[in-house]
Amino acid sequence: MSQTIPVKKNDYIDVEFVDLTHEGQGVAKIDGFPVFVPGGLPGESAQIKILNVKKNYGYGKLIEIKEKSPYRVEIPKEDMHKYGGCQLHHMSYEGQLQFKQNLVEQTLTRIGKLQDVNIHPIIGMEQPFHYRNKAQVPVGERNGRLITGFYKPRTHEIIDTDESVIHMEAINDAIKIVKEICSELGVTAYNEEAHTGVLRHIMARFGRKTDELMIVLITRTEKLPHREEIVGKIVAALPNVKSIVHNVNPKRTNVILGEKTQVLWGQDVIYDYIGNVKFAISPRSFYQVNPVQTQVLYDKALAYTGLTGEEIVIDAYCGIGTISLFLAQQAKKVYGVEVVSDAINDAKKNADLNGITNVEFTVGEAETVIPNWAKEGIHADVIVVDPPRKGCDAALLKTIIEMKPKRVVYVSCNPATLARDLGILEADDYQTVEVQPVDMFPMTMHVECVSQIVLK
Ligand code: SAH
Repeated sequence: MSQTIPVKKNDYIDVEFVDLTHEGQGVAKIDGFPVFVPGGLPGESAQIKILNVKKNYGYGKLIEIKEKSPYRVEIPKEDMHKYGGCQLHHMSYEGQLQFKQNLVEQTLTRIGKLQDVNIHPIIGMEQPFHYRNKAQVPVGERNGRLITGFYKPRTHEIIDTDESVIHMEAINDAIKIVKEICSELGVTAYNEEAHTGVLRHIMARFGRKTDELMIVLITRTEKLPHREEIVGKIVAALPNVKSIVHNVNPKRTNVILGEKTQVLWGQDVIYDYIGNVKFAISPRSFYQVNPVQTQVLYDKALAYTGLTGEEIVIDAYCGIGTISLFLAQQAKKVYGVEVVSDAINDAKKNADLNGITNVEFTVGEAETVIPNWAKEGIHADVIVVDPPRKGCDAALLKTIIEMKPKRVVYVSCNPATLARDLGILEADDYQTVEVQPVDMFPMTMHVECVSQIVLK
Protein backbone atom coordinates (compact mmCIF):
# COMPACT_ATOMS: atom_id res chain seq x y z
CA MET A 1 0.00 0.00 0.00
CA SER A 2 1.57 3.27 -1.01
CA GLN A 3 0.92 6.31 1.08
CA THR A 4 0.74 9.65 -0.68
CA ILE A 5 3.39 12.09 0.48
CA PRO A 6 1.67 15.32 1.47
CA VAL A 7 4.61 17.68 0.78
CA LYS A 8 7.08 18.37 -1.98
CA LYS A 9 10.43 20.06 -2.25
CA ASN A 10 10.36 23.89 -2.00
CA ASP A 11 6.86 23.99 -0.46
CA TYR A 12 6.36 26.62 2.22
CA ILE A 13 4.06 25.39 4.97
CA ASP A 14 2.92 26.26 8.46
CA VAL A 15 3.56 23.53 10.99
CA GLU A 16 3.62 22.82 14.68
CA PHE A 17 6.54 20.99 16.27
CA VAL A 18 5.52 18.02 18.38
CA ASP A 19 8.82 16.35 19.28
CA LEU A 20 12.60 16.29 18.84
CA THR A 21 14.72 13.70 17.00
CA HIS A 22 17.75 12.03 18.59
CA GLU A 23 19.83 14.80 17.04
CA GLY A 24 17.65 17.50 18.60
CA GLN A 25 15.87 18.50 15.39
CA GLY A 26 12.25 19.63 15.61
CA VAL A 27 9.69 17.09 14.38
CA ALA A 28 6.58 18.38 12.58
CA LYS A 29 3.87 16.00 11.36
CA ILE A 30 2.05 16.92 8.16
CA ASP A 31 -0.95 14.59 7.85
CA GLY A 32 1.15 12.16 9.87
CA PHE A 33 4.21 12.53 7.61
CA PRO A 34 7.24 13.53 9.71
CA VAL A 35 9.45 16.41 8.65
CA PHE A 36 12.65 17.12 10.57
CA VAL A 37 13.62 20.75 10.99
CA PRO A 38 16.79 21.90 12.78
CA GLY A 39 16.04 24.58 15.34
CA GLY A 40 12.34 23.82 15.93
CA LEU A 41 11.22 23.18 19.49
CA PRO A 42 8.17 21.20 20.69
CA GLY A 43 5.12 23.42 21.14
CA GLU A 44 6.29 26.00 18.61
CA SER A 45 4.45 26.89 15.43
CA ALA A 46 6.44 28.06 12.47
CA GLN A 47 6.65 28.45 8.74
CA ILE A 48 9.10 26.01 7.17
CA LYS A 49 10.44 25.33 3.69
CA ILE A 50 10.67 21.71 2.56
CA LEU A 51 14.23 20.95 1.45
CA ASN A 52 14.19 17.26 0.81
CA VAL A 53 11.56 14.54 0.67
CA LYS A 54 12.21 10.83 1.21
CA LYS A 55 9.77 7.93 1.25
CA ASN A 56 8.96 8.03 4.97
CA TYR A 57 10.14 11.45 6.10
CA GLY A 58 11.40 14.81 4.93
CA TYR A 59 13.77 17.60 5.92
CA GLY A 60 12.86 21.24 6.21
CA LYS A 61 14.34 24.60 7.05
CA LEU A 62 12.97 27.00 9.63
CA ILE A 63 11.76 30.17 7.90
CA GLU A 64 9.88 31.98 10.66
CA ILE A 65 8.82 31.03 14.17
CA LYS A 66 5.23 32.22 14.69
CA GLU A 67 4.76 31.09 18.26
CA LYS A 68 7.84 30.63 20.42
CA SER A 69 8.37 27.99 23.08
CA PRO A 70 8.66 29.52 26.56
CA TYR A 71 11.82 27.41 26.83
CA ARG A 72 13.56 28.91 23.81
CA VAL A 73 16.85 30.66 24.52
CA GLU A 74 18.67 32.71 21.92
CA ILE A 75 22.40 32.12 21.77
CA PRO A 76 24.12 35.13 20.15
CA LYS A 77 25.76 34.14 16.87
CA GLU A 78 29.22 35.07 18.17
CA ASP A 79 28.82 32.55 21.04
CA MET A 80 27.65 29.58 18.96
CA HIS A 81 31.19 28.20 18.73
CA LYS A 82 31.02 27.25 22.42
CA TYR A 83 28.17 24.81 21.88
CA GLY A 84 29.80 21.93 19.98
CA GLY A 85 28.11 18.64 20.82
CA CYS A 86 25.12 20.44 22.38
CA GLN A 87 21.95 19.51 20.50
CA LEU A 88 19.78 21.43 22.98
CA HIS A 89 21.62 24.75 23.19
CA HIS A 90 18.46 26.56 22.06
CA MET A 91 16.43 25.22 25.00
CA SER A 92 16.60 26.48 28.59
CA TYR A 93 17.82 23.95 31.14
CA GLU A 94 14.36 23.86 32.71
CA GLY A 95 12.95 23.06 29.28
CA GLN A 96 15.53 20.32 28.71
CA LEU A 97 14.65 18.62 32.00
CA GLN A 98 10.95 18.87 31.24
CA PHE A 99 11.51 17.39 27.78
CA LYS A 100 13.57 14.48 29.13
CA GLN A 101 11.03 13.79 31.86
CA ASN A 102 8.20 13.64 29.30
CA LEU A 103 10.28 11.43 27.05
CA VAL A 104 10.86 8.90 29.84
CA GLU A 105 7.23 8.94 30.98
CA GLN A 106 5.81 8.67 27.47
CA THR A 107 8.19 5.91 26.46
CA LEU A 108 7.64 3.76 29.53
CA THR A 109 3.86 4.01 29.43
CA ARG A 110 3.45 3.88 25.63
CA ILE A 111 6.05 1.29 24.60
CA GLY A 112 6.51 -0.52 27.89
CA LYS A 113 2.83 -0.26 28.89
CA LEU A 114 4.01 -0.02 32.48
CA GLN A 115 1.41 0.64 35.13
CA ASP A 116 1.83 1.28 38.84
CA VAL A 117 5.35 2.54 38.40
CA ASN A 118 6.58 5.54 40.28
CA ILE A 119 8.57 7.70 37.83
CA HIS A 120 10.36 10.30 39.91
CA PRO A 121 11.12 13.82 38.68
CA ILE A 122 14.45 13.88 36.84
CA ILE A 123 17.50 14.89 38.89
CA GLY A 124 19.22 17.67 36.99
CA MET A 125 22.46 19.51 37.74
CA GLU A 126 22.69 22.67 39.77
CA GLN A 127 25.34 23.86 37.34
CA PRO A 128 24.52 22.27 33.96
CA PHE A 129 27.65 23.64 32.25
CA HIS A 130 31.31 22.61 32.33
CA TYR A 131 30.62 19.09 33.59
CA ARG A 132 32.70 16.88 31.27
CA ASN A 133 35.99 15.53 32.66
CA LYS A 134 37.25 14.45 29.26
CA ALA A 135 37.70 16.00 25.84
CA GLN A 136 39.36 14.85 22.66
CA VAL A 137 39.50 17.63 20.14
CA PRO A 138 40.61 17.56 16.49
CA VAL A 139 43.54 19.76 15.51
CA GLY A 140 43.67 21.81 12.32
CA GLU A 141 45.58 24.77 10.92
CA ARG A 142 44.45 28.24 9.99
CA ASN A 143 46.70 31.14 8.96
CA GLY A 144 49.80 29.24 9.97
CA ARG A 145 48.53 28.54 13.52
CA LEU A 146 47.07 25.42 15.08
CA ILE A 147 43.37 25.47 15.86
CA THR A 148 41.26 23.08 17.92
CA GLY A 149 37.53 22.75 18.40
CA PHE A 150 34.84 20.44 17.12
CA TYR A 151 33.59 19.32 13.75
CA LYS A 152 30.72 21.24 12.23
CA PRO A 153 27.85 18.69 12.16
CA ARG A 154 28.11 16.23 9.27
CA THR A 155 31.44 17.67 8.07
CA HIS A 156 35.09 17.48 9.00
CA GLU A 157 35.43 21.24 9.06
CA ILE A 158 36.79 22.37 12.45
CA ILE A 159 34.97 25.16 14.28
CA ASP A 160 37.82 26.97 16.03
CA THR A 161 37.18 27.33 19.78
CA ASP A 162 38.77 26.85 23.19
CA GLU A 163 35.57 27.51 25.08
CA SER A 164 33.26 24.51 25.16
CA VAL A 165 30.38 25.10 27.60
CA ILE A 166 30.29 21.40 28.52
CA HIS A 167 33.98 20.68 29.13
CA MET A 168 35.32 21.44 32.61
CA GLU A 169 37.25 24.70 32.71
CA ALA A 170 40.42 22.76 33.58
CA ILE A 171 39.98 20.81 30.34
CA ASN A 172 39.34 23.91 28.19
CA ASP A 173 42.40 25.63 29.68
CA ALA A 174 44.63 22.59 29.24
CA ILE A 175 43.73 22.10 25.60
CA LYS A 176 44.24 25.77 24.80
CA ILE A 177 47.68 25.82 26.44
CA VAL A 178 48.84 22.58 24.82
CA LYS A 179 47.64 23.79 21.42
CA GLU A 180 49.52 27.09 21.82
CA ILE A 181 52.73 25.35 22.93
CA CYS A 182 52.65 23.02 19.92
CA SER A 183 51.75 25.87 17.60
CA GLU A 184 54.66 28.03 18.75
CA LEU A 185 57.11 25.16 18.28
CA GLY A 186 55.90 24.74 14.71
CA VAL A 187 54.22 21.33 15.07
CA THR A 188 51.96 20.85 12.05
CA ALA A 189 48.36 19.69 12.13
CA TYR A 190 47.26 16.46 10.55
CA ASN A 191 45.65 16.97 7.16
CA GLU A 192 42.96 14.36 6.69
CA GLU A 193 42.61 14.64 2.92
CA ALA A 194 46.30 14.51 2.08
CA HIS A 195 47.14 12.26 5.07
CA THR A 196 50.10 14.52 5.89
CA GLY A 197 51.08 16.60 8.92
CA VAL A 198 51.56 15.53 12.53
CA LEU A 199 49.12 16.35 15.33
CA ARG A 200 45.68 14.75 14.91
CA HIS A 201 43.97 15.21 18.27
CA ILE A 202 44.65 16.53 21.75
CA MET A 203 42.97 14.64 24.57
CA ALA A 204 42.67 15.88 28.14
CA ARG A 205 41.27 13.96 31.12
CA PHE A 206 40.77 15.36 34.58
CA GLY A 207 40.15 13.78 37.99
CA ARG A 208 37.61 16.04 39.63
CA LYS A 209 38.28 14.82 43.17
CA THR A 210 42.07 14.62 42.77
CA ASP A 211 42.71 17.59 40.44
CA GLU A 212 44.97 15.33 38.37
CA LEU A 213 45.31 16.12 34.69
CA MET A 214 46.33 13.84 31.80
CA ILE A 215 47.36 15.12 28.38
CA VAL A 216 47.47 12.82 25.36
CA LEU A 217 48.99 13.99 22.08
CA ILE A 218 47.84 11.87 19.16
CA THR A 219 50.02 12.04 16.05
CA ARG A 220 50.05 10.45 12.62
CA THR A 221 53.85 10.18 12.74
CA GLU A 222 55.94 7.91 14.95
CA LYS A 223 57.94 10.92 15.97
CA LEU A 224 56.61 13.88 17.90
CA PRO A 225 58.84 16.81 16.88
CA HIS A 226 60.20 18.96 19.75
CA ARG A 227 58.94 16.45 22.25
CA GLU A 228 61.33 17.44 25.06
CA GLU A 229 60.42 21.10 24.69
CA ILE A 230 56.71 20.32 24.49
CA VAL A 231 56.86 18.30 27.70
CA GLY A 232 58.92 20.94 29.52
CA LYS A 233 56.53 23.71 28.55
CA ILE A 234 53.39 21.72 29.42
CA VAL A 235 54.77 20.83 32.85
CA ALA A 236 55.68 24.47 33.48
CA ALA A 237 52.33 25.82 32.32
CA LEU A 238 49.98 23.24 33.85
CA PRO A 239 50.85 22.52 37.50
CA ASN A 240 48.12 19.85 37.79
CA VAL A 241 49.46 17.68 35.01
CA LYS A 242 50.39 14.22 36.27
CA SER A 243 50.68 12.35 33.00
CA ILE A 244 51.72 13.27 29.45
CA VAL A 245 51.25 10.56 26.87
CA HIS A 246 52.06 10.21 23.18
CA ASN A 247 49.80 8.02 21.06
CA VAL A 248 50.53 7.18 17.41
CA ASN A 249 47.72 6.68 14.95
CA PRO A 250 49.14 6.31 11.41
CA LYS A 251 45.88 5.15 9.83
CA ARG A 252 43.33 6.88 7.65
CA THR A 253 40.46 6.54 10.08
CA ASN A 254 37.93 8.37 12.23
CA VAL A 255 39.03 6.34 15.24
CA ILE A 256 40.93 8.74 17.47
CA LEU A 257 43.49 6.61 19.32
CA GLY A 258 46.03 4.40 17.59
CA GLU A 259 47.57 1.26 19.00
CA LYS A 260 50.93 2.61 20.15
CA THR A 261 51.07 4.54 23.41
CA GLN A 262 54.14 5.87 25.17
CA VAL A 263 54.35 7.83 28.39
CA LEU A 264 56.42 10.98 27.77
CA TRP A 265 56.37 12.27 31.33
CA GLY A 266 54.92 11.31 34.73
CA GLN A 267 52.46 8.51 35.43
CA ASP A 268 50.75 6.23 32.91
CA VAL A 269 47.39 6.87 34.59
CA ILE A 270 45.61 9.53 36.60
CA TYR A 271 43.33 8.80 39.53
CA ASP A 272 39.85 9.86 40.50
CA TYR A 273 37.21 8.84 43.03
CA ILE A 274 33.54 7.98 42.76
CA GLY A 275 32.31 8.07 46.34
CA ASN A 276 35.26 6.64 48.22
CA VAL A 277 36.29 4.19 45.51
CA LYS A 278 39.50 5.12 43.71
CA PHE A 279 39.86 4.59 39.96
CA ALA A 280 42.90 4.55 37.71
CA ILE A 281 42.20 6.17 34.35
CA SER A 282 44.40 5.51 31.31
CA PRO A 283 44.06 7.20 27.90
CA ARG A 284 41.82 4.38 26.74
CA SER A 285 39.78 3.63 29.87
CA PHE A 286 36.07 4.03 29.70
CA TYR A 287 35.24 6.27 32.65
CA GLN A 288 32.02 8.16 33.27
CA VAL A 289 32.37 11.70 31.89
CA ASN A 290 30.09 13.50 34.35
CA PRO A 291 31.49 12.75 37.81
CA VAL A 292 28.91 14.82 39.73
CA GLN A 293 25.92 13.01 38.25
CA THR A 294 27.66 9.62 38.27
CA GLN A 295 27.72 9.82 42.04
CA VAL A 296 24.00 10.69 42.05
CA LEU A 297 23.21 7.79 39.71
CA TYR A 298 25.25 5.22 41.65
CA ASP A 299 23.86 6.31 45.01
CA LYS A 300 20.39 5.69 43.59
CA ALA A 301 21.43 2.34 42.12
CA LEU A 302 22.87 1.34 45.49
CA ALA A 303 19.68 2.38 47.29
CA TYR A 304 17.58 0.38 44.79
CA THR A 305 19.62 -2.78 45.40
CA GLY A 306 18.60 -2.69 49.09
CA LEU A 307 21.92 -4.32 50.04
CA THR A 308 22.50 -5.27 53.68
CA GLY A 309 25.92 -6.89 53.39
CA GLU A 310 24.62 -10.45 52.96
CA GLU A 311 23.79 -10.48 49.25
CA ILE A 312 25.36 -12.02 46.19
CA VAL A 313 25.26 -9.49 43.35
CA ILE A 314 25.85 -9.84 39.62
CA ASP A 315 26.88 -6.73 37.68
CA ALA A 316 26.29 -7.54 34.01
CA TYR A 317 27.91 -5.07 31.54
CA CYS A 318 30.32 -4.01 34.30
CA GLY A 319 32.84 -1.99 32.22
CA ILE A 320 35.86 -1.11 34.41
CA GLY A 321 33.91 -2.25 37.46
CA THR A 322 32.64 1.12 38.61
CA ILE A 323 29.26 -0.11 39.80
CA SER A 324 30.65 -3.46 41.01
CA LEU A 325 33.23 -1.81 43.27
CA PHE A 326 30.74 0.75 44.48
CA LEU A 327 28.33 -2.04 45.49
CA ALA A 328 30.97 -4.45 46.83
CA GLN A 329 31.31 -2.35 49.97
CA GLN A 330 27.71 -3.24 50.91
CA ALA A 331 27.47 -6.78 49.53
CA LYS A 332 28.81 -10.20 50.42
CA LYS A 333 30.16 -10.78 46.95
CA VAL A 334 29.90 -9.14 43.52
CA TYR A 335 30.44 -10.91 40.20
CA GLY A 336 31.13 -8.57 37.27
CA VAL A 337 30.99 -9.54 33.60
CA GLU A 338 32.01 -7.45 30.60
CA VAL A 339 32.80 -8.22 26.97
CA VAL A 340 35.88 -5.95 26.56
CA SER A 341 38.96 -7.61 28.03
CA ASP A 342 40.90 -4.34 28.58
CA ALA A 343 38.02 -3.09 30.72
CA ILE A 344 38.14 -6.26 32.82
CA ASN A 345 41.90 -5.76 33.32
CA ASP A 346 41.16 -2.23 34.55
CA ALA A 347 38.40 -3.53 36.80
CA LYS A 348 40.78 -6.03 38.45
CA LYS A 349 43.43 -3.33 38.94
CA ASN A 350 40.84 -1.03 40.45
CA ALA A 351 39.74 -3.74 42.88
CA ASP A 352 43.39 -4.18 43.97
CA LEU A 353 43.89 -0.44 44.20
CA ASN A 354 41.08 -0.28 46.74
CA GLY A 355 41.88 -3.53 48.55
CA ILE A 356 38.42 -4.83 47.60
CA THR A 357 38.54 -8.63 47.62
CA ASN A 358 34.90 -9.70 47.44
CA VAL A 359 34.62 -9.13 43.68
CA GLU A 360 35.30 -11.41 40.76
CA PHE A 361 35.52 -10.16 37.18
CA THR A 362 35.05 -12.27 34.06
CA VAL A 363 35.45 -11.44 30.36
CA GLY A 364 32.59 -12.51 28.12
CA GLU A 365 29.07 -11.78 26.98
CA ALA A 366 26.66 -11.37 29.87
CA GLU A 367 24.10 -13.55 28.04
CA THR A 368 26.59 -16.44 27.83
CA VAL A 369 28.54 -16.11 31.06
CA ILE A 370 25.62 -15.63 33.47
CA PRO A 371 23.68 -18.76 32.38
CA ASN A 372 26.93 -20.71 32.97
CA TRP A 373 27.22 -19.26 36.44
CA ALA A 374 23.63 -20.31 37.10
CA LYS A 375 24.51 -23.87 35.99
CA GLU A 376 27.49 -23.83 38.36
CA GLY A 377 25.08 -23.08 41.18
CA ILE A 378 25.78 -19.37 41.67
CA HIS A 379 22.64 -17.78 43.01
CA ALA A 380 22.23 -14.00 42.75
CA ASP A 381 20.10 -12.01 45.15
CA VAL A 382 20.45 -8.89 43.04
CA ILE A 383 21.30 -8.45 39.35
CA VAL A 384 22.41 -5.05 38.11
CA VAL A 385 22.41 -4.35 34.38
CA ASP A 386 23.85 -1.28 32.64
CA PRO A 387 23.73 -2.24 28.95
CA PRO A 388 24.66 -0.18 25.87
CA ARG A 389 21.91 1.63 23.91
CA LYS A 390 20.54 -1.53 22.34
CA GLY A 391 19.50 -2.79 25.76
CA CYS A 392 19.75 -6.29 27.25
CA ASP A 393 20.10 -9.36 25.11
CA ALA A 394 16.89 -11.44 25.16
CA ALA A 395 18.88 -14.44 26.40
CA LEU A 396 20.06 -12.44 29.42
CA LEU A 397 16.51 -11.40 30.32
CA LYS A 398 15.44 -15.05 30.06
CA THR A 399 18.28 -16.05 32.38
CA ILE A 400 17.31 -13.35 34.89
CA ILE A 401 13.74 -14.63 34.88
CA GLU A 402 15.01 -18.18 35.50
CA MET A 403 17.50 -17.18 38.22
CA LYS A 404 14.80 -15.25 40.08
CA PRO A 405 16.92 -12.64 41.90
CA LYS A 406 14.86 -10.74 44.48
CA ARG A 407 15.77 -7.48 42.82
CA VAL A 408 16.97 -6.23 39.48
CA VAL A 409 18.44 -2.75 39.14
CA TYR A 410 18.45 -1.52 35.56
CA VAL A 411 20.68 1.43 34.62
CA SER A 412 19.77 2.57 31.12
CA CYS A 413 20.92 5.21 28.65
CA ASN A 414 18.03 4.55 26.26
CA PRO A 415 14.40 4.81 27.46
CA ALA A 416 13.11 2.89 24.42
CA THR A 417 15.08 -0.29 25.10
CA LEU A 418 14.51 0.15 28.85
CA ALA A 419 10.75 0.17 28.19
CA ARG A 420 11.00 -2.94 26.02
CA ASP A 421 13.10 -4.85 28.57
CA LEU A 422 10.97 -3.85 31.57
CA GLY A 423 7.96 -5.05 29.57
CA ILE A 424 9.60 -8.48 29.17
CA LEU A 425 10.39 -8.73 32.89
CA GLU A 426 6.86 -7.59 33.78
CA ALA A 427 5.32 -10.23 31.52
CA ASP A 428 6.85 -12.67 33.98
CA ASP A 429 7.22 -12.47 37.75
CA TYR A 430 8.70 -9.00 38.01
CA GLN A 431 7.26 -5.63 38.85
CA THR A 432 8.95 -2.29 38.14
CA VAL A 433 8.55 -0.21 41.27
CA GLU A 434 10.54 2.94 40.73
CA VAL A 435 12.29 4.74 37.92
CA GLN A 436 14.65 7.64 38.57
CA PRO A 437 15.74 9.67 35.52
CA VAL A 438 19.11 11.41 36.00
CA ASP A 439 20.49 14.07 33.67
CA MET A 440 24.05 12.89 33.04
CA PHE A 441 24.49 14.94 29.86
CA PRO A 442 22.97 18.44 30.07
CA MET A 443 22.63 20.29 26.72
CA THR A 444 22.42 16.97 24.86
CA MET A 445 19.53 14.67 23.99
CA HIS A 446 20.76 11.89 26.28
CA VAL A 447 18.87 10.80 29.36
CA GLU A 448 19.87 8.14 31.87
CA CYS A 449 17.46 6.18 34.10
CA VAL A 450 17.91 3.85 37.02
CA SER A 451 15.03 1.47 37.80
CA GLN A 452 14.17 -0.82 40.63
CA ILE A 453 12.45 -4.07 39.67
CA VAL A 454 11.32 -6.59 42.31
CA LEU A 455 10.24 -10.21 42.26
CA LYS A 456 6.50 -10.37 42.91
N1 SAH B 1 28.65 -0.14 34.20
C1 SAH B 1 29.78 0.47 33.57
C2 SAH B 1 29.77 0.41 32.03
C3 SAH B 1 28.46 0.49 31.32
S1 SAH B 1 28.60 0.76 29.59
C4 SAH B 1 29.97 1.88 34.05
O1 SAH B 1 29.04 2.50 34.56
O2 SAH B 1 31.07 2.40 33.94
C5 SAH B 1 28.10 -0.79 28.93
C6 SAH B 1 29.20 -1.83 28.91
O3 SAH B 1 28.67 -3.05 28.39
C7 SAH B 1 30.38 -1.49 28.01
O4 SAH B 1 31.54 -1.55 28.80
C8 SAH B 1 30.38 -2.58 26.93
O5 SAH B 1 31.68 -2.97 26.54
C9 SAH B 1 29.68 -3.72 27.64
N2 SAH B 1 28.99 -4.72 26.82
C10 SAH B 1 28.39 -4.56 25.62
N3 SAH B 1 27.79 -5.70 25.23
C11 SAH B 1 28.01 -6.61 26.21
C12 SAH B 1 27.63 -7.99 26.40
N4 SAH B 1 26.89 -8.62 25.48
N5 SAH B 1 28.00 -8.59 27.53
C13 SAH B 1 28.74 -7.95 28.48
N6 SAH B 1 29.15 -6.66 28.33
C14 SAH B 1 28.79 -6.00 27.22
